Amino acid sequence: MSAENNLRDGELAVEMPAVRDAGLIFIGRIRTPWISREDAPRQGRHDGPVCRLEIFDPWVPALQGVDFYSNLEVIYWLHRSRRDLVLQSPKKNGSTRGTFSLRSPVRPNPIGTSIVRLVGIEGATVLVRGLDCLDETPLLDLKPDRCEFSPLAAQKRGDVEAE
Ligand code: SAM
Repeated sequence: MSAENNLRDGELAVEMPAVRDAGLIFIGRIRTPWISREDAPRQGRHDGPVCRLEIFDPWVPALQGVDFYSNLEVIYWLHRSRRDLVLQSPKKNGSTRGTFSLRSPVRPNPIGTSIVRLVGIEGATVLVRGLDCLDETPLLDLKPDRCEFSPLAAQKRGDVEAE
């Protein structure tokens, strides 16, 4: 067992059920300056470094209209997380919390989200600030921040789509 998988005092791991594939598609790859989990910020900041969302084919046309928004929600797969902890000790001090009361990357479905600032779009690459994930983290989805995508804003733009 690697050190990464060792339990801290009070932590509880469970046997993982058989994986049922939800059919997730990695629509791109996130490039950031962080190689190790210790280096990455716990949460991204809008004055953090510019990171790159490299969108894969055939999803590039789906970027059309993204530049309308200043804030985007990025959804990603925290691929280097273990998934079997139900109790965790983030402070490593023996006191534990339930996984669903934490934003820890360790969870049954290691999905991370960040609200980021759009810096620009260069072809198939979206430049943003506000991420906290490791370099090469798989990208699951990209959507307008829900605050900007209010029914009122959509109405002003003439969008017919309902949220
Ligand atoms: N902002 C997201 C959220 O709240 O859903 C993620 C927050 S999580 C606390 C961020 C931490 O996850 C980073 O500090 C790093 O330790 C870890 N992490 C980042 N990328 C990861 C990856 N690809 N696999 C596993 N852990 C990762």
